Amino acid sequence: MTSSAQLQARQKAAVAPGVATRGIYAERADNAELWDVDGKRYIDFAAGIAVNNTGHRHPRVMQAVQEQAQRFTHTCFHVAPYEGYVRLAERLNAIAPTGAENRTMLVTTGAEAVENAVKIARAHTGRSGVVAFSGGFHGRTMLGMALTGKVSPYKKNFGPFPAEIYHAAFPNAYLGVTTEDAIASLERLFVSDVEPDRVAAFIVEPVQGEGGFNIAPTSFLRRLREIADENGILLIVDEVQAGMARTGRMFGIEHSGVTADLVTMAKGLAGGFPLSAVVGKAEIMAAAHPGGLGGTYAGNPLAVAAANAVLDVIEEEDLCARARVIGERIASTLRAIAQRQGLERIGDVRALGAMVAFELVEDRESRRAAPDLAARVVSEAEKRGLILLSCGTRANVIRILSPLTIGDDTLAEGLDVLEQAIGAAFSAIEVH
Ligand code: PMP
Repeated sequence: MTSSAQLQARQKAAVAPGVATRGIYAERADNAELWDVDGKRYIDFAAGIAVNNTGHRHPRVMQAVQEQAQRFTHTCFHVAPYEGYVRLAERLNAIAPTGAENRTMLVTTGAEAVENAVKIARAHTGRSGVVAFSGGFHGRTMLGMALTGKVSPYKKNFGPFPAEIYHAAFPNAYLGVTTEDAIASLERLFVSDVEPDRVAAFIVEPVQGEGGFNIAPTSFLRRLREIADENGILLIVDEVQAGMARTGRMFGIEHSGVTADLVTMAKGLAGGFPLSAVVGKAEIMAAAHPGGLGGTYAGNPLAVAAANAVLDVIEEEDLCARARVIGERIASTLRAIAQRQGLERIGDVRALGAMVAFELVEDRESRRAAPDLAARVVSEAEKRGLILLSCGTRANVIRILSPLTIGDDTLAEGLDVLEQAIGAAFSAIEVH
């Protein structure tokens, strides 16, 4: 068995440094637990960045993939299509929150879904502009980077980016950016940068993921929908991180009651297999001509089999309800911790279902970011066997994305470790 230390050295000599990693080399994983190559056990509060909503290697998903592997693993859907893809399309059409008849296309990554949603929106409207939001994240392809509203580390040194991408402000209750402020910035954009009838689409996350688990207020999403309708602009809702039961509803936008024109999905869709989707209103999806959409691996049969099983699991295990239960448990634990003396640098705890985060600040008055403290919480947790992720445009937010299938005992154990890690990080940082 190769140790983590050996692998780290080999990685340094073999893998591009731009592919940043941490020191945990996975050996195996099961539901909400992961063991590294040194035999150390971790509780997984990252779920491969919101991918393993159904846990690592859910038996139902594994069985579906194994059965598919016995039949065929790749034909290319354009060459020899298969029933699993069509079935998944039927199922996604039935649940995508557009309030209309839908059509689906499958690709492989979240960024690719975003790219295709923009292609379709442009083909349908005959317009080229796209408005995204500050702090948003939409992927690492050229267009994904252009749409992403955070320079470092995603965009730095990699431009120029595709033209006709604009950014407006995203509301942030904690930092005092209201819905009115955000809408005013959009209106300024229409005055100073692009006229609304050149804009094909708005693209928005219902809860910003990488940007810091900022929850879009319902008032903001409603206004976006109205402005879109008034100006013939489409609303693309990026559910790559918030979708697939994570927020306690199948899709994050459903909390607002606002309907989308196009929805992008990935991550939790296929429980650990690479698959993404654009699902949208039938007449909009019809705008892209035959041959304009797809790809060699798009809708890979193994990933499609996994996704069909994931949808069964979400339904049968009622993972939306489970997301609300575990989200509430995590958030109330964090709120209790934040009340303790000496832990005032936990500035905010926020949650939508099982998308839970806490923000670390210098003090509660200034709300200045404390990214060093966030990094320390992550590393203290890792030492104690808990995988955590940070996020946020100010790099000071810790996000919790445990599998929705996590057992009560494992969750309680993970929360205990989190509490210890917070305590250790606060005393370590205060000493310096
Ligand atoms: N959109 C959102 C909202 C995301 O969170 C991500 C990934 N973090 C992406 C798009 C890009 O997905 P991928 O990394 O699969 O390309």
